[in-house]
Amino acid sequence: MFIVFKGRIKVSNNQNIEDYRENPVVRELLEASNDGFWDWNVATGEVYFSIRWVEMLGYKQDEVEPNVSSWEKLVHPDDMPHVMEVLQKHIKGETDYYETEHRVKTKQGDWKWILDRGRVISRDKNGNPLRAAGSHTDISEKKKHEEERENLLRELEKSQAILKSIMTSSSDLIYIKDKESRILAVNEAFLKLVGSDGKPAKMEDIIGKNDIEFLGNEAGISIIENDQILLKNRKTISIEEQTPSSNGNLTFHSIKSPIIDSKNHLIGLIGISRNITERKKMEDKLKEAITARDEFLSIASHELKTPLTALLLQSQSIKRNILQGKPDIFTPEKMTKFSIMIDQQIQRLVRLVDDMLDISRIQSGKLAINKEKFDFREAIDQVNERLEVQIKSITGESLRKEVYEMVAGSWDRQRIEQVITNLLTNALKYGHGQPITIGLLTKNNKLRFYVKDHGEGIKNENFERIFQRFERAVSPNEVSGLGLGLYIAKQIVESHRGRIWVESEYAKGSTFWIELPLN
Ligand code: ADP
Repeated sequence: MFIVFKGRIKVSNNQNIEDYRENPVVRELLEASNDGFWDWNVATGEVYFSIRWVEMLGYKQDEVEPNVSSWEKLVHPDDMPHVMEVLQKHIKGETDYYETEHRVKTKQGDWKWILDRGRVISRDKNGNPLRAAGSHTDISEKKKHEEERENLLRELEKSQAILKSIMTSSSDLIYIKDKESRILAVNEAFLKLVGSDGKPAKMEDIIGKNDIEFLGNEAGISIIENDQILLKNRKTISIEEQTPSSNGNLTFHSIKSPIIDSKNHLIGLIGISRNITERKKMEDKLKEAITARDEFLSIASHELKTPLTALLLQSQSIKRNILQGKPDIFTPEKMTKFSIMIDQQIQRLVRLVDDMLDISRIQSGKLAINKEKFDFREAIDQVNERLEVQIKSITGESLRKEVYEMVAGSWDRQRIEQVITNLLTNALKYGHGQPITIGLLTKNNKLRFYVKDHGEGIKNENFERIFQRFERAVSPNEVSGLGLGLYIAKQIVESHRGRIWVESEYAKGSTFWIELPLN
């Protein structure tokens, strides 16, 4: 309340300030008002403080000296400079009235916010103020509310800034959708994902759309269905979702929660989706590796057991015959047959164990290559000699040689013999007993060696696969084997900077080729 006396009540320079307060109307006004009133004789420093003025601060009227210095002592020192500046401006006549908000000390020692408004009501002929009057309004409550609101706004701004920085810095997709699964807000990662030609999408192109519109029907419908489930149940869900991309399908792990306001109204949902495509691929590979390992262990134990069982049966039969006193069993022919059989089974065991050792050497990068100069035909002849009996007994004839040039070079002889042995024994295993043809030639200053059979052949889709570890194109029951031979052969050939491949027609036969540099 701004009390302007000038005009209403006659005030003259020498008038006693108490005069007008004698006026019953003024008295009524002063007592009924909730505001305090002050009347300052600028010349003497004397101030009249109304009852309400002093009571507002917890004092009784006789406890406050009616002097301007009483007021000065009560104003908060931090607010004083500003109060003085405003007051001076008005006293100098620069402003029409004086108005400040400042803190004033109460009797209890705490601070009250006061709206202090006043005006010089008389000046001498030089313009110097003689009297000023005004009011005090307690605005502590209002200030408290203002402060609370400001704190709230600050908190809101802070949490908005935090949310924004989380959204911006996150490599996960963050999105807010309405109840119909339409986008309300997304982060940069989301814009990047749905952008095209390596450019992020524009926010304005995304807002208001649903997943079908930027992901297509298939992925979009399933995502919206997930959204609707959580919105209906008002419960957080954690699921895997697929989205198409230029690099194939991506898998995301999404956590989505409903957004519910303080009145329990459903507003929409917030979701965070993490790209787990790579992790998924790794997991799949790991699963495949574990399955392959388990299969290998079961095949390996079967493969090891077969020759051992054959040996055991033979030794039991010999023992039985000795116990039964049947000397005719020990004829030179029978003994030769026994020893050939024992030799074959032991060789089979040795090959299996060697293959397994090679695998562990390859795995640890310790497959050493010791080169020496030799004619490749020597290695073939050596293997042929070792396998001759087997070849003849299975195919009914010796190896056929189509081309058989002299090709000299520097290679690891033992390892090369291992490759040749592997290709020939495979031709025996899978060649349906048909004749086997080999060839040796030079092409483009490189050695080429091939083994051709007329057996079961290999389907095109298995051409690459059979050179991988534990990979077989036949079922374990058809022909025995660990699926390691070609893998090891490939490692040996590649260690010589060469290559190995197969040409084949299913059910007609295969030709395995190796190519080695001559130097
Ligand atoms: P294994 O013979 O012990 O299975 P390999 O690594 O030597 O292992 O061969 C892998 C697979 O390649 C075989 O299981 C077979 O399916 C196929 N394969 C190899 N050589 C031939 C061939 N000459 N004819 C047909 N299939 C073959």
